[in-house]
Amino acid sequence: MDYKGKIQERIKSYSLTTFGKKFIDCNDKEKYITLVKGLMEEIVPKWNNSLSKYHGKKKAYYFSAEYLMGRALSNNLINMNWKSEIKGLLEEYQIDYNKIEEAEDDAGLGNGGLGRLAACFLDSAATLDYPLMGYGLRYEYGIFSQKFIDGFQVEKHDNWLEFGDPWSIRKSQDKVVVNFSDGDVLAIPYDTPIIGYGGNTINTLRLWKAEAIRPFDLEEFNKQNYDLSVKDKNDAEYISKVLYPNDSREEGKILRLKQQYFFVSASLQDLIRKHLENYDNLDNFHSLHGIQLNDTHPTVAIPEMMRILTDEYDMEWDKAWNITVKTFAYTNHTILQEALEQWPIKLYKSLLPRVYEMIEKINEKLIEELKEKGMSQKTENYEIISGDNIKMAYLAIYGTHSTNGVAQVHTDILTESELNNWYKLYPERFNNKTNGITQRRWLLKSNPELSDLITDLLGSDKWITNLEELKKLEKYKDDEKILNKFLDIKQKKKNQVAEYIKENEGVEIDPNSIFDIQIKRFHEYKRQLLNAFHILDLYYRLKDNPDLDMVNRTFIFGGKAAPGYERAKGVIKFINEIKELVNNDKDINEKIKVVLVTNYGVSYGEKLFSAADISEQISTAGKEASGTGNMKFMLNGTPTIGTLDGANIEIVEEAGEENNFIFGLKVEDIKEIEDSYNPTKYYKEVKGLKRVMDSLIDGTFSDGDTGIFKELHDSILKGASWHSPDQYYLMKDFDSYREAHKRVDNAFRNRRDWAKKCWINMANAGKFTSDRTIEQYAKEIWDIKKA
Ligand SMILES: *Cc1c(COP(=O)(O)O)cnc(C)c1O
Repeated sequence: MDYKGKIQERIKSYSLTTFGKKFIDCNDKEKYITLVKGLMEEIVPKWNNSLSKYHGKKKAYYFSAEYLMGRALSNNLINMNWKSEIKGLLEEYQIDYNKIEEAEDDAGLGNGGLGRLAACFLDSAATLDYPLMGYGLRYEYGIFSQKFIDGFQVEKHDNWLEFGDPWSIRKSQDKVVVNFSDGDVLAIPYDTPIIGYGGNTINTLRLWKAEAIRPFDLEEFNKQNYDLSVKDKNDAEYISKVLYPNDSREEGKILRLKQQYFFVSASLQDLIRKHLENYDNLDNFHSLHGIQLNDTHPTVAIPEMMRILTDEYDMEWDKAWNITVKTFAYTNHTILQEALEQWPIKLYKSLLPRVYEMIEKINEKLIEELKEKGMSQKTENYEIISGDNIKMAYLAIYGTHSTNGVAQVHTDILTESELNNWYKLYPERFNNKTNGITQRRWLLKSNPELSDLITDLLGSDKWITNLEELKKLEKYKDDEKILNKFLDIKQKKKNQVAEYIKENEGVEIDPNSIFDIQIKRFHEYKRQLLNAFHILDLYYRLKDNPDLDMVNRTFIFGGKAAPGYERAKGVIKFINEIKELVNNDKDINEKIKVVLVTNYGVSYGEKLFSAADISEQISTAGKEASGTGNMKFMLNGTPTIGTLDGANIEIVEEAGEENNFIFGLKVEDIKEIEDSYNPTKYYKEVKGLKRVMDSLIDGTFSDGDTGIFKELHDSILKGASWHSPDQYYLMKDFDSYREAHKRVDNAFRNRRDWAKKCWINMANAGKFTSDRTIEQYAKEIWDIKKA
């Protein structure tokens, strides 16, 4: 029997045995689960076969506290090449595939770019037949789900496991024990298949769940101490209960440290146990394992590895250190001071005393090495233990053979300033790996219309695994017929989004207006507030002059603010206030509309990126390490309005500055002006700027008496104890940003020239596939070979 027939049989029996009814009588969620169970029976044998082909070869392991996977159903069906048949099968039952697709909860085990990067990397590695395993935490609750009440963000827990996760398999036999000074905890792995495009390679994402060794104490129960009877269970399960919803901000909490050590220790035990099934000792561990640390969150792996090698396997220190350094590599994701992890010594000492002793010894060895190199004066610029804290980035650089930044400008800032000390000590360790995105999710799946056009024109679908193929499309940049097809597709995507937004947000938007989109986490450095100021300025100019010559514009925002990040939440409230003002004002004739979509995540993104006319990438120069949202827009033929920051620089290198809208201060400019910067001057002198700024304090809007709008105003003109006024240069960049928007408005009017810009962006997006990034990690850091 063919697989479709088999799946049909399984669906019939599975719905009966699990939900007690016929498949067609199940609700959408039940149908989704039933279908996936049926698919998994087909996938698992292939998965087991695939894993065995790497036997005895070096493999890479991605250690990440976050994986922002989104939905898996469509992605897996596409990668297995089963989608049309499964759609057909469902149609036989008169079931709409889209409804089943929407029944899947996003696996939101990450905050933003860093977690999504991990997900794109897994997809690329499997597609390229590289042995890459992901290790992380199976949070019971992922990134919170966002709502707005009176324009304020309200967070709701994300119960993504309520109906189970049919893609993952609990592997109880592989459980390990993780030791903390306050007790031991069980780590139970759950494995999810990562199916490469074409289905040849199926890798594994292994996520650990924390459970108590003794989940129930009958003695206490019999004494009617019911709380105590399950105390161990609760204490243990807290560890993998919830994702810390911070993005680019440090969270120095004991539970967070427990999470980090928990998944790192479990993963290392897992690797070492498997290694020792095949070898007598750990002497060759580094020649079979390359472990990438996704930011500093898993850096405790370095002292933990030293503890295991020296304490448990009696290895001599220098030999163990050599193995450790050769095994690990570190990716730096940010230079924001508030995001650089430092752990209080006290915390480490009390929770992980032996691991802390390892860190002390590592630090001593470092100082010794510096002295040998004649750098005894400067040791404090390197010391891992400094004051009351442990500097995790320093530990990560010293304990690995590779430190990489995530876009060229970011790596340059690391080597030339932020980590210049370390660069001078170990120049050979530093390298750049510009981020990427998978075209399977961010074009093939999310924009089948444009995908079909691309495949038609190229006469092949090779671009799905070789994105540089897109370059061959550049020759159509003046072909009116093709550009019109592109515009028709863009219109179709915009119509779809308008429909979705009407249904989900209750806002009607004009599908012919310019869709101007900023979707990303809310953070001051990302400058959603600058965008908001521009919208409000435009609104006031329209009020002054209702005949203002402009193309209708829809400003779409999406993103979550960390629950404790008051200013970011204040910006959300401000945008919602502007939205109410603008969308309800009949005078401006619907020339502008504002939407802040609810609960932006991977699945919402899939709809929005492909429908955008203009991509907002307006971070303060030097602050956005790379960005990956910028790449998703580009791939879907969307020009960028942005600063020369992160990967924006490389995007305009590829697609031409003339096809994008670059404005504002550059990294060098900021270096020059930072000491004498006076935002008040711009506030007073730039036309219209005071008016929009003061709307924060003059009663135009209500912040519900929280004082947050005044706080935003003060952060710009007065600064605060921890920062100078307007540290993100909104005042200075405002005029140049407004001018760039005028260029967008002008350019958009010439439909052919506009389509040409879009087209050239899309045709030059080849560099930004995560396939390229993974090839570079594989060859230049991990030294692994394809199966
Ligand atoms: C790509 C992506 C991000 C990263 O966006 P940036 O604009 O690079 O910050 C964040 N969240 C989701 C859901 C994404 O898909």
